[in-house]
Amino acid sequence: MGGEWRTLTDVATAPVHNPSTGNVIAETPLCGPREVDEAVEAAAAAFPSWCETPPVERARVLFQFKSLLEQNFEELIRLNTREHGKTLAESRGDVKRGIEMVEFACGIPSLLMGESMENIARGIDCDTIRQPLGVCAGITPFNFPAMVPLWMYPVALACGNTFVLKPSEKVPLTAIRIVQLLVEAGLPKGVINIVHGGCDCVDAILTHPKIKAISFVGSTPVARRVFEVGTRHGKRVQSNGGAKNHLFVMADAEIENSTRGIMEAAYGCAGERCMAGSTAVLIGDAAKKFLPSIVDAARAIQVGPTDREAQPQMGPVITHEHRQRVEQLIEAGAKEGARIAVDGRRVHVPGEPHGFFLGATVLDGVRDGMNVSREEIFGPVLNVMHVESLEEAIAQANRSAYGNGASIFTRSGRAAREFKHRVKAGMVGVNVGVPASMAWFPFNGWDESFFGDLHMQGKEGVQFFTQQKVTMTRWFSDGEGDIWHR
Ligand code: NAD
Repeated sequence: MGGEWRTLTDVATAPVHNPSTGNVIAETPLCGPREVDEAVEAAAAAFPSWCETPPVERARVLFQFKSLLEQNFEELIRLNTREHGKTLAESRGDVKRGIEMVEFACGIPSLLMGESMENIARGIDCDTIRQPLGVCAGITPFNFPAMVPLWMYPVALACGNTFVLKPSEKVPLTAIRIVQLLVEAGLPKGVINIVHGGCDCVDAILTHPKIKAISFVGSTPVARRVFEVGTRHGKRVQSNGGAKNHLFVMADAEIENSTRGIMEAAYGCAGERCMAGSTAVLIGDAAKKFLPSIVDAARAIQVGPTDREAQPQMGPVITHEHRQRVEQLIEAGAKEGARIAVDGRRVHVPGEPHGFFLGATVLDGVRDGMNVSREEIFGPVLNVMHVESLEEAIAQANRSAYGNGASIFTRSGRAAREFKHRVKAGMVGVNVGVPASMAWFPFNGWDESFFGDLHMQGKEGVQFFTQQKVTMTRWFSDGEGDIWHR
């Protein structure tokens, strides 16, 4: 807060675990309105000077930040893995995607340019400029400790705003380390501030009168509430929620690459991704070849600790409680009539009895209306549904309340075109299992996967963190002394 690192001794804390061992590795202070107020005041005090700093100078701090992120890359990915549990390769992706956001924000002098037109009426010129909003805030989930905070503040700061970040209380360490590097890069005091905590902290952000805009990423019930409460308090809000993404598989799909794509989509980051392909929809004869290949590939996935040199294919889930929730959903799916084709619940990891491990699970024969077909599981569980036609598959996926991603595996251009045109999802893949858009494009959820108007990333992100001003200019002639009228 205000450029000082503070140790709070008078607040409750929440444990941070290393999910590979179950050990507590840190305690997150649970801040409330008092700390949020201090952080916002620091950000408000830093705003007048930062917003007058030329965009090119703001970009120079971000160039230096990018360079420090790269220099400290190996440390960051290890820290990320230690508190989150994803594999080192997955952490590499997490940090890399975040660096790309910084690279995007480094282009701010070009991104901020407005439009202009001469003579909108005789002698009158018109132009648009983009100005920052003031103090902005970001509230982030546990599943991408590096990337998701970096979706927000590099662009917000590049646009001339100051910022208060509240990372997930489950994974605060990567977020802190990255902000340390930003301060080291030369960011003036108070331009970025971090507060930690849970609901109380979020509520104080949502209602603080000096916060102008809020970016949120997390589960749909919280995303909806953040949007409702934030907008009711007069703030601009972009709020990303949960998902249930469908992977369509046509009988003509190429078997090896498509199976690999399905495995990566379903079990990458142990299924803890808003773009996880959590439901495979096997169309017509696709079931004959793809069900056996999916089951075999899922059975072969090795699970293990990720906080050491020898890396497994899949790491643990975030907490013991989350593992229990996923196990209960698997059980509920079986009670509703799904067949547990691969059961990851009793996975044994030698030497690590307290890690939060779950093996890859396949629930076959999931049908519309079952709880597991509607609810986001957010774990290493792939639902398999069987339908007769592409039309039926599209209708099935379009009944989902969510609209983050959807993919098709096929060799047919016509089927792919039909799917792209008709499926209701904001990010669509053709033979790409995780069509998560990158820094230059909007992260484009629809329906219950997004609440707001302007998405994170890309030009929409710049629009979200700025307000536009239209100016009209006319200069009167000074009569005889005016050289143009002699
Ligand atoms: P979460 O909703 O539990 O928490 C997200 C943030 O909200 C955290 O900072 C947390 O402290 C805070 N929070 C939690 N409960 C709250 C409450 N009742 N009131 C106010 N604040 C609250 O989400 P999570 O478990 O950390 O992350 C997983 C979820 O995030 C999944 O649903 C996933 O799909 C979603 N997600 C979405 C995207 C996207 O871009 N659409 C990206 C990543 C994750």
